[in-house]
Amino acid sequence: MQMGIPHFLAIPFPVQGQVNPIMTFCQVLANRGCKVTFLRTEFSHKRVKDKQEGSQIKFVTLPDGLGPEDGRVDVMKVLYSIKSTMPSLLPKLIEDINASDDENKITCIIVTMNMGWALEVGHRLGIKGAFFFAASAASMASCYCIPRLIEDGIIDTDGHPTKKQEFQLSADLPKMNTADLPWLSLGKSFFTDQLVPELETMMKLGEWWLCNSSYDLEPGAFSISERLLPIGPLMIENESNQSSFWEEDTTCIDWLDHQTPQSVIYVSFGSLAVMDPNQFKELALGLDLINKPFLWVVRPGNDNIAYPDEFQGAKGKIVGWAPQKKVLSHPAVSCFISHCGWNSTIEGVCSGVPFLCWPFFSDQFLDKSYVCDVWKVGLGLEKDEHGLITKEEIRKKVEQLLGDENIKARSSKLKEIAISNMEEVACSSKNLEKFIKWAK
Ligand code: UDP
Repeated sequence: MQMGIPHFLAIPFPVQGQVNPIMTFCQVLANRGCKVTFLRTEFSHKRVKDKQEGSQIKFVTLPDGLGPEDGRVDVMKVLYSIKSTMPSLLPKLIEDINASDDENKITCIIVTMNMGWALEVGHRLGIKGAFFFAASAASMASCYCIPRLIEDGIIDTDGHPTKKQEFQLSADLPKMNTADLPWLSLGKSFFTDQLVPELETMMKLGEWWLCNSSYDLEPGAFSISERLLPIGPLMIENESNQSSFWEEDTTCIDWLDHQTPQSVIYVSFGSLAVMDPNQFKELALGLDLINKPFLWVVRPGNDNIAYPDEFQGAKGKIVGWAPQKKVLSHPAVSCFISHCGWNSTIEGVCSGVPFLCWPFFSDQFLDKSYVCDVWKVGLGLEKDEHGLITKEEIRKKVEQLLGDENIKARSSKLKEIAISNMEEVACSSKNLEKFIKWAK
């Protein structure tokens, strides 16, 4: 190992939507000659299906403070347990890592949202810090602008909207509705006890706020701060997923191989969204109505949902967890019914797939605005008077989407633009180099 290379310690909050993109980021850094150590909670480490022994990334673990019987569904419980357990253990871990390779000590800690405490530990040890933001830059901008939103009377000091209204952070950012502010789904105590202090840490100790995005995808979002740096869309050729919490059902790739090109509807709502049982039934019947092949991810563990008796699913394949990036880039896939998590959004964009947007909470509404209103590569679904997206609505919108040649053409174009952002001379790639140089 040559001397003087940067050594990154990545510390993600252990949810799939944060672990996946920072893992890809770490692989990109390792491919560029950096040394990377990746911290998993012991629970996550046991859970990940491919432990990647022998990978160029070194994995280390710390306990999250919860017992094996606790489960990890309650994200807030995990968060508070991590914050009361890990900070006292991290200095010793860093000491051990450094002792094992004296010439390449850790030079920079990269954390995802909720793990700002680790930058405080790093700061005390003289280690630089950066935030990796697993959502859009626009979503980051909405958090950054919290003091302004309070000052303008759009939200109160608890983060609640003073009234339901649309607002724009700047003229070139998508309009947002106060009802869809990303922190609302996480409750009052999250806003005051976690988000606001986390932002303060970010200002104080995060010298860069890295986003898996690009100037082309979000031209208006990066002007809010010079520290906000687009380094994406992050991609690795033939990437094997090193961080899946569920076993990927790879039989769906063989199944896709046997489908007609551009025929399959891919349906997935990410790792956290839970569908109401009635809505689940309606979706099943909607997929039957469309009468086209579909690949539907139904995560195991939700005992409340049941397929309706009339559901045939004759043309479909249902899996518990899919190798999503491989699925999206498969030539058989025609469109993506998605909850619009930022990772799914970026993965769909990089595969040139049109979207049918079905956001549930948090930043997913903002991502839907990008897809439908800014990039115009998808359509939204409307709820009926009972708050249900009906089977008829699903059928109608899928047919409308698949018949819209303009959306298809824009999706292909956007894919080209997104991918070109990572070419050597492009901004995201240069930003990455700038970041690595800074971390040395
Ligand atoms: N994912 C996957 N297989 C699936 C469903 C999702 O590998 O069957 C991955 C997907 O590729 C993405 C992540 O899980 O990287 C979900 O992140 P996203 O931000 O889209 O949504 P979240 O789970 O955070 O709501």
